[in-house]
Amino acid sequence: MKIFKDKISLQKEILNKPISFIPTMGGLHKGHISLIKKSKKYKRKTLVSIFVNPRQFSKKSDYRNYPRNKFKDVSILRNLSVNYLYLPSIKDIYGFKPKNKIFLHKFSKKLCGKFRKGHFEGVINVMNRLIEIIKPKKIFMGKKDYQQLFLIKRFIAKNKINSKIIECDTVRQANGVAFSSRNSLLKSNDIKIASKVYHFINKIKKRFDIYNENFLKKKMIELGASKVDYIENYNIKKNFVKSKKYNKNCKIFIAYYIKNVRLIDNI
Ligand code: AMP
Repeated sequence: MKIFKDKISLQKEILNKPISFIPTMGGLHKGHISLIKKSKKYKRKTLVSIFVNPRQFSKKSDYRNYPRNKFKDVSILRNLSVNYLYLPSIKDIYGFKPKNKIFLHKFSKKLCGKFRKGHFEGVINVMNRLIEIIKPKKIFMGKKDYQQLFLIKRFIAKNKINSKIIECDTVRQANGVAFSSRNSLLKSNDIKIASKVYHFINKIKKRFDIYNENFLKKKMIELGASKVDYIENYNIKKNFVKSKKYNKNCKIFIAYYIKNVRLIDNI
């Protein structure tokens, strides 16, 4: 695996090579690994980036405390025979003016957009830059961050960028909890709470219409969540219309805290 810390040397290497790209913020886990394994099926060169993007964090403390584990990450990527690892500095990413403009679909105002000011602007900004540097043929992204995935797809379509997003299923622990880098900040009792929340949402989702959101938030607090930002049902096949009734085209989106760790999922 070749490791690059600046875009000029990376671009020299990958120029004219069709690239399968997996953007990450590191703290690698089985969710990331599934994206990489899926990308390897396409027989293109795989490029993983690890960049904890300061601009997508609303709070400085959240950025500072985000789990980082470079040595373990590098060893995981070597074992997976990833071709290229891009580990840029903040200057490498933000020290140039990108060609494309940021486009934020109106769905960016909902869910996490409502609770994390500037988050999606930061996400689209960094993806715009990474795409301009790497020019990937395919980008592998997880449905775990469904709102992010949707907004990146809309940004790519709006700018007629020649990169295709491949959507990858959420990978979960046996107890139902979605793998997340932030799980490493949780104690085993906290993971039990996250598991209870997952099973609770699964149990009530088909009868979502008979509950009101405040009642469900209260129930999540009773299960051990410290705070709930949202629990909302959206029809993801119908351009993200909020829906009272749950059906197979719907997903229940949740964001909540266990102590000071914020978790998101969609079920
Ligand atoms: P992150 O490092 O959290 O920015 O995530 C990098 C990519 O991995 C994103 O496309 C995420 O949606 C994806 N991802 C994170 N967790 C999971 C998971 N449990 N299952 C599948 N994909 C995931």
